[in-house]
Amino acid sequence: MNLQTLENTLSQETFSDEDLLAFLSLTEPALCSRLWREAYDRTTRVHGNALWFRGLIEISNYCIYDCRYCGIRKGNHAAQRYTLTLDEIVEAARYAVRAGYGSVALQAGERTDEKFVSFVEEALVRIHRMSVEEGIAEGCGMTLSFGEQTEETYERWAQASGNRNALRYLLRIETSNLPLFRYLHSGQGGAQKTWEARLQSLALLRKLGYQVGTGVMIGIPGQSLADLVRDIRTFESLDVDMLGMGPYLVSHGGAMVEDGMMQKDVLLTLTRNMLAATRLALPTVNIAAATALETLVPGGRSLGVLSGCNVMMPNVTPQRTRASYQLYDNKQGTEAEPDSNVELEKELVAVTGREIGRHRYGSSLHFRSRRGLPAA
Ligand code: SF4
Repeated sequence: MNLQTLENTLSQETFSDEDLLAFLSLTEPALCSRLWREAYDRTTRVHGNALWFRGLIEISNYCIYDCRYCGIRKGNHAAQRYTLTLDEIVEAARYAVRAGYGSVALQAGERTDEKFVSFVEEALVRIHRMSVEEGIAEGCGMTLSFGEQTEETYERWAQASGNRNALRYLLRIETSNLPLFRYLHSGQGGAQKTWEARLQSLALLRKLGYQVGTGVMIGIPGQSLADLVRDIRTFESLDVDMLGMGPYLVSHGGAMVEDGMMQKDVLLTLTRNMLAATRLALPTVNIAAATALETLVPGGRSLGVLSGCNVMMPNVTPQRTRASYQLYDNKQGTEAEPDSNVELEKELVAVTGREIGRHRYGSSLHFRSRRGLPAA
């Protein structure tokens, strides 16, 4: 593809599979830059100049599953396990609320036992109460990421959150290549995952009124560019409101070390191409710049914003446990003090030209249009 062909393709409003494949295939720096710029500009046109922050709290790294790629899988006996206390969770959320982030994101390894379900429920009730006391009349926004659960559990958590208009759930499909999905989720040390169960959970979340998010890993060994195009089409068919996608990074606590990973420069370019192609195909969804991008290259999240992302999830987890939530090797944000988020904000604004959308929920235009809700 030359620059003129790219310009012609970018002038369209909708894109064929062939167009998306061509975007993903770009390697020439000038062409890649043009693609990323188009994605950034369309993000500005559709969403404005605000970058939405969610304060990320990693509440526990216990997990009953054994996904091969993951450093906190059950079969990794070297992982140091922890669960934050309720007070620690609420204080971390308070930090995010006082920083004006408007939303928190709660994440953990997967458990489905009643003790865990009621623990999360209590945490949500307390965070909601705290955020109302801190001056957010309807309570802060919440993004939950606790994997596949029953309908009853999703409903209990929705009620506990106290604010269904700013309630989100992130459940990534990881890949739409089904043999690869089965390989990724066939570790022997824990419970097994199925594609059907993943889709069922996403449908349940939608039915219960959550803003639904999903995503994939980019550059998984054995994944093709055609797989990534199918991933984008799957996002469309699921009618998702938000996406979280990052590069596949090897984890020495996982069980895929011998499969290797892509060379870093190539992986960075592919990740940015995928973010941009997804933005062009799904203009109204929120797309988060993943921490994995920052691990791949310093300043990676800014590069994500410059490729079409409009959400950032700075880590506000207490320092004592951050190093233990190692989904992949050398995860960034494990050393930083909470106030380093202030530095992160300054860097982001300087590099990306965005402004931080403070004291607002920042729900995706896709969700707000569907529900007839007012501005973000
Ligand atoms: S990816 Fe999630 S469900 Fe799978 S092992 Fe890691 S924490 Fe558990």
